[in-house]
Amino acid sequence: MIVMKFGGTSVGGCEEMARVVSIVQQKLDQRPVVVTSAMSGMTDLLYRIADKAEQHDETAMEELLDKLRNHHVEVAERLLERNVDVMLQTTSRVNEICDELEAYTKAICVLGELSDRSKALIISNGELLSSTILASAMQVAGIKTAWVDARKMMITNHYHLKGEPVIPEIERRVPQVIAEEGNGADVVLTQGFISADMDGEPTVLGRGGSDYSASLIAMALNASAIEIWTDVDGVLTADPNKVKTAKRLERISFEEAAEMAHFGAKVLHPLTIEPAIKKNIPIYVLNSRKPGSVGTSILDHSDIPDGAKSISYKENILVINIFSTKMINASGFLGKVFDIFSVNKVSVDLISTSEANISVTVDDGQDIGKVLEELSEFATIEVDKGKAQISVVGQNLINQPGVLDKIFAPLEERIYMVSQGASLINLSIVVDKQAMDGTIKAIHNAFFEQEGAL
Ligand code: ASP
Ligand code: MG
Repeated sequence: MIVMKFGGTSVGGCEEMARVVSIVQQKLDQRPVVVTSAMSGMTDLLYRIADKAEQHDETAMEELLDKLRNHHVEVAERLLERNVDVMLQTTSRVNEICDELEAYTKAICVLGELSDRSKALIISNGELLSSTILASAMQVAGIKTAWVDARKMMITNHYHLKGEPVIPEIERRVPQVIAEEGNGADVVLTQGFISADMDGEPTVLGRGGSDYSASLIAMALNASAIEIWTDVDGVLTADPNKVKTAKRLERISFEEAAEMAHFGAKVLHPLTIEPAIKKNIPIYVLNSRKPGSVGTSILDHSDIPDGAKSISYKENILVINIFSTKMINASGFLGKVFDIFSVNKVSVDLISTSEANISVTVDDGQDIGKVLEELSEFATIEVDKGKAQISVVGQNLINQPGVLDKIFAPLEERIYMVSQGASLINLSIVVDKQAMDGTIKAIHNAFFEQEGAL
């Protein structure tokens, strides 16, 4: 059994969906479970619909609802024109989903009150719509397809907008639901991103969560592979928008992939790797526009050579510098500091310390007011804004000859912080935001574009 996940751009329109059908058709002997995202742009649109409802802006909301409906109806009509019966059934189902959503959002619009639960329910519709259309397209192509509602098996806690998976429940339900509903089918088709809590209330896994759905399902099924079909050639040595010469990586380790995802690479949802590691299931990142190409394999670290794999970045971060002479020779000081971050749910990325100073980075946009207030009670605090973090990721990175030279020699700008994890897999620096693009290019050049690089 394999799990094939198709991202928003891979199911983004009529041609794209048709391509997905033919990709799946080639894999029927591997008994695929297909996980789909919403069509590209549709989850964003649903978020905006929810916002308009909350703002009592019925006119704007109606306009957006029409856009959602028309887009799906048009794609269904074009994609399924060869089979009028299926087409009519599908557009009628699409209209039904949109009618229900309209009634629901209108009620919210009147109240002007939007709970996380309601929002989760609204934004779940993108995947329900895309999977409805894709299931029909598979059927028309002669693939026996069982459409399964992911909310029956993807169980999370009650955090509606960023549900945390309840693993034992998922491991129990997924094989059961798929065996029951997929009985006799060639393909089981389900939705990414959407989930439910133990009481059946709607939740979602958070933005970009379809990858995570796919790997959770693969874990629960002991699948032999996870294929993440997307619109790029695989995992690259850098963001191609920043570095035109970025190259595709043939293979990377689970740990490298997790580190890259966490430190800014946008190919995979950061939590995707965890379930795959648990069962040692290889992940293949593949381009649905070039179905024959090999993509990037993400494998156990013993199959991966040491050395730098990629340069990733985070654009908007803050550095919080904490100075206190109380820190010198005092035990428990770090605990106290990080307790404050943890209690206030501010997540910290990089940390570096010296005798009387701790510096940490956090994503800008988190509410750090309380943290600063509490830290100020016993330390002097300085916040550096407008910074960016650049990370070089690679297994056993630091033991490679010349690594420090490659990172620091090209730098012309001030460095605010340097941090290296104990896993030896990531070395990060913090620079001014304006210096970020140039620095990424320079470091990428030193690692990947010189002769004998890597
Ligand atoms: N549709 C969801 C999003 O746009 C989940 C996903 O595509 O992975 O965030
Ligand atoms: Mg994605």
